Amino acid sequence: MRVRVAVNGYGTIGKRVAEAVARQPDMELIGVAKTRPNYDARRAVEKKFPLYLAGDGKRSEFEAAGVPLAGTIQDLIAGADVVVDAAPEKIGKENRKLYDAAKVRAIFQGGEKPEVAEASFNALGNYAAGRGKRTLRVVSCNTTGIARAAAVLLPRWGVEQWDVTLIRRAADPAESKKGPINGIVPTFPLPSHHGHDVNTIFPELSITTTAVVVPTTLMHVHVNHVRLRKAPADPGEVLEAFRSTPRFLLFAPWERVDGTPQIMEFGRSRGLGFGDVMENVLWEAGMRLVGQDVYFLQAIHQESVVVPESIDAIRAMFDLAPDGRASIAITDQALGLPAR
Ligand code: NAD
Repeated sequence: MRVRVAVNGYGTIGKRVAEAVARQPDMELIGVAKTRPNYDARRAVEKKFPLYLAGDGKRSEFEAAGVPLAGTIQDLIAGADVVVDAAPEKIGKENRKLYDAAKVRAIFQGGEKPEVAEASFNALGNYAAGRGKRTLRVVSCNTTGIARAAAVLLPRWGVEQWDVTLIRRAADPAESKKGPINGIVPTFPLPSHHGHDVNTIFPELSITTTAVVVPTTLMHVHVNHVRLRKAPADPGEVLEAFRSTPRFLLFAPWERVDGTPQIMEFGRSRGLGFGDVMENVLWEAGMRLVGQDVYFLQAIHQESVVVPESIDAIRAMFDLAPDGRASIAITDQALGLPAR
């Protein structure tokens, strides 16, 4: 049996999730829904993804643009086993009424409050919590990045305290109207909300987050200081723990990855969907161990890091894999990510 998946909201996240679903051996993309015709709608048609009318969208706008519609969002979800909601933040909560009325399962994104779903989800962090659920929320890009790293450090050494400074991208590359285009803008109040969000995956983790927004579109960078409960033998042990875990990509000093531009250039050269980098990216030179204190930097490609997680959330819901690592292996093979 292949799970029939609908994607509602076809922007930055939705178009990537749709493409990822279409590549999975145990899932079928039955259609995508959009409010307005634009270049993404054109690509959906070119890829032969059935396109449906979402939200307050007007059929006449699609007709005027010559973009064919297969029906409305209600028609789409009537044939779905699950909807992945990728509408702008807070709209997922409104859309939930539609899904409830149609008695269809739903996966929401991190722009929604945790209460939108029965559980928040991260594949390395708490796959089992997603099993059999009717609603799940994939945590945000920053939370996904931290939760993955916590899934590496916590079981091996324990964590006494985790402090993170998040250097956040100002906008996604296609968002030409957003800023700042100059300046560094702190997020108030302190601490930022990201730590609470990590606690939806790891409730016991003591974590404090601070965030600033900077004028870049490529990636976020996290500056982490983690006090472990016991000291690793050496820094190589910590690096190896990250290196041997799926969804981590490490760069050695000889690779001359000076910053996020080279990471994204590397991603484009891999030729995976959209030139994305779906892994947490670590610089080997950006890791330091002082006794029980680990310092490390990681870069997170905000547009794509939650995409494989949304796929694993579907697999957890329908119990399609024995555990998280098995689901991750299927997802990553289908997406062309390296196996671990
Ligand atoms: P987006 O604005 O790029 O795309 C949203 C799409 O939904 C647009 O095409 C919009 O027209 C459409 N839409 C509007 N109203 C709708 C409705 N009522 N029903 C269905 N679709 C509707 O947004 P995005 O960046 O893809 O974000 C989607 C979700 O993913 C948000 O919860 C966001 O917080 C989360 N998220 C975004 C990022 C990121 O960096 N962009 C990263 C992780 C999580």
